[in-house]
Amino acid sequence: MEKQQPPARLQTYSNELMEQIFHSTVEGIMITNEKMQITLVNNAFEALTGYKSSEVLGKFPSILQSGKQDADFYKVMWSEIRSKGFWKGEIWNRRKNGEIYPEILAIHSVLDDTGKPINYYGIFSDISYEKETERELEELTQTDLLTNISNRNAFNELLFDKVNSSNDSHAILFIDLDRFKQINDTLGNDVGDLILIEVAKRINSIVGPSDIFARYGADEFVYARSKIEYQKDAALLAKDITKLFHKPFHVCGTEVYITASIGISIFPQDGKHIEKLIYKADKAMYFAKQNGRNQYAFYFDDLKKDSKRLIVLEAELRKAIQNKDFFIHYQPKIGLAKQDIIGVEALVRWNNEKLGFVSPAEFIPIAEDTGLIIPLSEVILEKVCMDILESRSQGNIHILPVSINIASLHFQQDDFIERINSIVMQYNCSPQLLELELTERTIMKESDDIVDKLVKLKAMGFKISIDDFGTGYSSLSYLNRFPLNYLKIDRSFIQQITNLQDKQAIVEAIILMAHRLRIKVIAEGVETKEQAKLLKQMGCDIIQGYYYSKPLAVKELMDFIELWEIYRQERNI
Ligand code: C2E
Ligand code: CA
Ligand code: CA
Repeated sequence: MEKQQPPARLQTYSNELMEQIFHSTVEGIMITNEKMQITLVNNAFEALTGYKSSEVLGKFPSILQSGKQDADFYKVMWSEIRSKGFWKGEIWNRRKNGEIYPEILAIHSVLDDTGKPINYYGIFSDISYEKETERELEELTQTDLLTNISNRNAFNELLFDKVNSSNDSHAILFIDLDRFKQINDTLGNDVGDLILIEVAKRINSIVGPSDIFARYGADEFVYARSKIEYQKDAALLAKDITKLFHKPFHVCGTEVYITASIGISIFPQDGKHIEKLIYKADKAMYFAKQNGRNQYAFYFDDLKKDSKRLIVLEAELRKAIQNKDFFIHYQPKIGLAKQDIIGVEALVRWNNEKLGFVSPAEFIPIAEDTGLIIPLSEVILEKVCMDILESRSQGNIHILPVSINIASLHFQQDDFIERINSIVMQYNCSPQLLELELTERTIMKESDDIVDKLVKLKAMGFKISIDDFGTGYSSLSYLNRFPLNYLKIDRSFIQQITNLQDKQAIVEAIILMAHRLRIKVIAEGVETKEQAKLLKQMGCDIIQGYYYSKPLAVKELMDFIELWEIYRQERNI
């Protein structure tokens, strides 16, 4: 009988041979010491990552990190390596040229006699090609690979079966994230992806056994519910979905607030074919967006007309921006301490020859969606500066401070400060005369960058106020991070303070807290004497609203200022 050979040991082979194999394998290999510093890499590592061996020796593997995995991911990975001595999985890394690529990676630890790790090594291969194939395959399958919920195909099939197998009515909800493009553009696609995953997860948590929920497109989701008896059942579902967005999304260490607009169509009233139902839900969703986003709307027949208006509006808006075809109205703000006019808010007005007077509440959101808000905001600032200049040239020495509304997208531009500064300088207008109103939502995207910008603006002489306060689900305590002069309590609170106890309590708390932080409080949308009186009692500093005056054209504002003594007595509170 032949004697069995013992298995060959590596030591039997020369070091030269080992080294040759190490460098010629197609997988990238990286070895680190116990402190995780890279001590050796092979040729494939250099080829795959683009880093030369000399560039990475002594460095940490984190130079390859793409940012696509969060801290939790690495925590789990390391706890496995510690407990099992081994981890394997898919991970996204970054090449030296910045390109992000998927790889399959195995990490092992090497222990000494006492069980302490002395080395780690990682072996990886690039799986970009496989991923691409997987994506193509996805189209043939039923799941969306990013979010792991059903995809568009699956939704269409499931809904088709449902609609054809019973006489029930069904509601189809078309859910579209608001300003998602902006998130992708400013925070990056990776963060966008994480948000989509979380959105899918949140909505999935309320999906009932006979509901269908799927990702339909980039930032679009569809939801179908059967046996809808009344419209209000569909509305309740839409409300439940909206509520899921009240809490911020935590991604890569930041809090992001996002909302959704929802359009609803009903089978069979709105159509019997799935394409038609989805088309109508989509139209209704657009209507919800136009109406100010973060809400739902049902399909109704006039919507067809409406989408035509949207197209005309956008085209006319472009032209109007080019021709600077806007003017500004100014709404006085009254200081309660002395009952005097302490400033005005600039509000843009647009009178179009085709469309007539268009409200900013309608065209500002469209300008924001199309990016037109940036040139538009600059036209507005120019007009305000021109009005100030004009007023000065007429011998007015006491020019009132003017507050202007700053759109989120505009504020986020890297060169925001330079741009507004150059306009202000061009018209020889002093920043001391200008207040910037930023909404709660704009500054809530809390980052050092925003604080930095605000500090700079304040140092230049601009005053800063936070607008629409109370609508953004944020806590008061975060306010002290920002250098604010004023806080404007949203109109929706003010209009209910005289009949709702809880709104009154909230407003009172806001005033107290703001004063503690030395921020003055402005109440906007004050319409009645009762409201004004109550606000005064609560210690509110400044009042703005129809009770004193509507927004006024420059000439009317001059008259208002002239006649203020008389108005003051009439409106005495
Ligand atoms: P906002 O910044 O909250 O402006 C206050 C709005 O409330 C104005 O509507 C004003 O006319 C209205 N208002 C003032 N007092 C009262 C009152 O007592 N009762 C009621 N019911 N309403 C009152 P407007 O001018 O239609 O503007 C709507 C929104 O459009 C503004 O809300 C602001 O978000 C935006 N907007 C207006 N002008 C500009 C602008 O120049 N730039 C930018 N980015 N946004 C603007
Ligand atoms: Ca405002
Ligand atoms: Ca406001």
